Amino acid sequence: MNYSDIFKSSINKLKLEGRYRYFNEIERVVGKHPKASWILGSKKNDITVWCSNDYLGMSQNKIVMSSMINAVKSMGTGSGGTRNISGNSNAIVNLENELADFHKKQKAIVFSSGYVANEATISTLLSLLKDVVVFSDEKNHASIITGIKKSNALKEIFKHNDLKHLNNLIKKYPENRPKVIVFESIYSMDGDIGDIYGITNIAKKYNALTYLDEVHAVGMYGANGSGIAEKLGLQNSVDIIQGTLGKAFGTMGGYIASSNIICDAIRSYASGYIFTTAIPPALAKAANTSIRYLKKSNKERILQQQNTILLKKYLKNENINFIDNESHIVPIMVNDPIRCLEISKILLNEFRHYIQPINFPTVPIGTERLRVTPGPLHTEEMIADLTFALKYAFKKTEKVNFKKPA
Ligand SMILES: *Cc1c(COP(=O)(O)O)cnc(C)c1O
Repeated sequence: MNYSDIFKSSINKLKLEGRYRYFNEIERVVGKHPKASWILGSKKNDITVWCSNDYLGMSQNKIVMSSMINAVKSMGTGSGGTRNISGNSNAIVNLENELADFHKKQKAIVFSSGYVANEATISTLLSLLKDVVVFSDEKNHASIITGIKKSNALKEIFKHNDLKHLNNLIKKYPENRPKVIVFESIYSMDGDIGDIYGITNIAKKYNALTYLDEVHAVGMYGANGSGIAEKLGLQNSVDIIQGTLGKAFGTMGGYIASSNIICDAIRSYASGYIFTTAIPPALAKAANTSIRYLKKSNKERILQQQNTILLKKYLKNENINFIDNESHIVPIMVNDPIRCLEISKILLNEFRHYIQPINFPTVPIGTERLRVTPGPLHTEEMIADLTFALKYAFKKTEKVNFKKPA
């Protein structure tokens, strides 16, 4: 048995299919976002980042930074344990109270990441509901899929945001069988918006629980920035709202907000919540500061939205093909994995614009794209420059034969 050969051939397969992942090494610089340094050997190159999930630049917000620095000075770096064994700092308890209030729920609980929040909550929820059927949107995030798989629950995948299909699937089951519908408010790769109103209505009709991933919407939408459910006045209609502290809030961690009883059940049974070190108090403090800041400040959201409109205008003028959705996510379609990688390289090497190519399995084969997330701190000059670079890169890769190897 040659173990190395097995791994090598797995890697070679990815390379042949143009979906081997190359990580660019970046050094973020306070005060410079969305610019950063791209590290190549001993050289640092100035680049403009267009694919950051630090959507509003909050990780360099002075108030958030000083709250983290001060918390480290007063409370140290680590939490010292799991929630159960000495890691239950008052900073994390306060953060959970803030999150509950933010989503107008009775309670919230914090996890190490949004991924863990989804995986741990969904797998536990489904395991606790004996004989449950889970209805999952086909475009749900990998962390949701993993949580469902882990539970071994009976699952029905409904066509993306297709209420008719969901309704047809759900009506087959007896009324007294437990049901959970899992979906997202903003889908990360197409940037389109889940029909919260329609889905929660179906849930009411068939007495199903609803679980909504608002990861890409928290901090970004609604008068207080708590997401699409808030924007639509539907926070009460969703049973469990899940979010991240790692994207618009510019820190790290994940959470759910729900009723006391659901949070207590998850807290008491979810392995991914119980058997892991709690997040550091300084991180909890910084996240809390960021949330409270974005609850009051609309400035970042407004500038962000203006820049999205501006970028789309520039792209349209140059006939660059993108998915025109209602969110802050602008997917520029390439529809070929190797060309997508090639365009991304040209943008970085020749123009110092950084957009990571998105290939299978993150998106379906043939829908490879550059996922652009304009922020409040991009300038019109940057947008114009990016558009020029994109046009050049599309042109330059036009005649190359990118046919997939057989
Ligand atoms: C990023 C993401 C997550 C995971 O959140 P992290 O805090 O990064 O672990 C969950 N759901 C969706 C839709 C995401 O895009």
